[in-house]
Amino acid sequence: MKQRLKLGKISGIPLYMHWTFPLLILYFVYDGLNRGLDTVGLLWLVGFILTIFFCVVLHELGHSLSARWYGIDTEDITLLPIGGVARLKAMPRKPWREIVVALMGPMVNVVIAAGLFIYFWLTSQSAMHGIPEEADGLVINGTNFLSWLFLTNVGLVVFNCIPAFPMDGGRVLRGLLGLRFKRVTATKIASILGRICAVGFAALSFLPGQSPFLLFIAIFIYFTASQEYHSVKTEEALREKTVRNAMRTQFTLIPAETNLDEVIPYITSTAEQGFLVVESTEYGTDLKGGVTRPAIVRAIKRHKGQESFFEKYLSRRRSKVNSFFVHELMNDRVRYLTPDMPLPMVYQEMMQLRISVMPVRENNELVGVLDYHQIQEFIKLNS
Ligand SMILES: [Zn+2]
Repeated sequence: MKQRLKLGKISGIPLYMHWTFPLLILYFVYDGLNRGLDTVGLLWLVGFILTIFFCVVLHELGHSLSARWYGIDTEDITLLPIGGVARLKAMPRKPWREIVVALMGPMVNVVIAAGLFIYFWLTSQSAMHGIPEEADGLVINGTNFLSWLFLTNVGLVVFNCIPAFPMDGGRVLRGLLGLRFKRVTATKIASILGRICAVGFAALSFLPGQSPFLLFIAIFIYFTASQEYHSVKTEEALREKTVRNAMRTQFTLIPAETNLDEVIPYITSTAEQGFLVVESTEYGTDLKGGVTRPAIVRAIKRHKGQESFFEKYLSRRRSKVNSFFVHELMNDRVRYLTPDMPLPMVYQEMMQLRISVMPVRENNELVGVLDYHQIQEFIKLNS
C-alpha cells in the first residue's frame, strides 16, 4: 500500500492511486491494440475504465460516508487494479451499523444502475443496446457505452453480494449473525461460510471453459476469510487490555558479551521466549536490545553444525556470523513501554517495527518484559 500516488481529497478523505493501477490501463490499451482497435476505440475503452473506477470511488464513499454518520472516520481510499479499498479507522461494532455501512457501498451501484435503467426506459432503448451477443473482447463506442456501464454496475453489485470476506456480502452476513451471536462467533461462522464459498469457486474454476481468474479469486477469498477471523479474535482478546495485563515481571537479563558456552544455562533455566540484552558500564547496566530463544537456539545449532538443510538455507540468508556473542544475535532497536499503554497499539507496533522483545519501564525503573510470544499466548488464553 506504500507505493501510491495521491489524487486529491473527496469530502476530506484522501484518495490514492496504487502504482499498479496505470498498469491495468496499459494492459487494456495493449490488448485493444492487439485486437486492432483504432485511436477512437482506444479512447472509448480507457474512458470506460476510468468511468468504472469513478463508480468504484463512489461505492467506497458510500461506505465511508455512512461510517462517518456513526462517528467513524476513513483513513483513506486507494484505487487498486482489483477495485477500491476504503480503510475505515475502525469497524462499527454494533451489528446493525456494520450491516448499514457494508450495504451502502453496493447501494451506490444499485442507484447508478437504476438511474441508467430509467434512462433506457424513458428513451425506449434496450439495456443491452449496442452490445453484440458474441463479442470478441470489450469494444466500447458511443452507442453501447451506457449499456456496458449499466451491466458493469450490476456485476459489481452481484460480486459484492457474495457472502464471503472481503466482499461486502461477508460483512452483511457477519452483521446479521452478530444480531444473534457474539462478534467472534459471528465472524467465525461467516469466515467458515466464506471458505466454503471459496472452495466452491475453486471447484467451478476447473469446469471446462472457465477462466483461471476464478481460481485466483477463490484463493484470495479463502485466505481473506481466514485472516478476518484471526484478526477479530486478536482484536477481541486485546481489547481494553494494557501492557500490565500481559507483561512478565520476572525476567532474565543476558549480558551482551555472553558467548556460546555461557548462554546455554540462561535458556535452560527458564521457559522465557524473549530476553533483554544488557551491558555493564561504570554507571550501571545499559539496555542494548532484545534477543529471542529461537534466535539463540538457531545460532547454537549453526555453530555446532547441527542445523537441518532448511535451517542452513535460512541462516545463510540471515547472517554470516561465525564468532558467537549474544550482542551479534540481538535486535538493537529498543522501544520502552509503560504498563498503562494499550495492548492493541503495542502489538501493532511490535509487528510494524519488527521488535519481538520490549522492556517495560515505570518511574525510570525496569519493571517487566513483553515479548511477541507472550502476546500470542495471551490471545490464545483470552479467546
Ligand atoms: Zn464495498
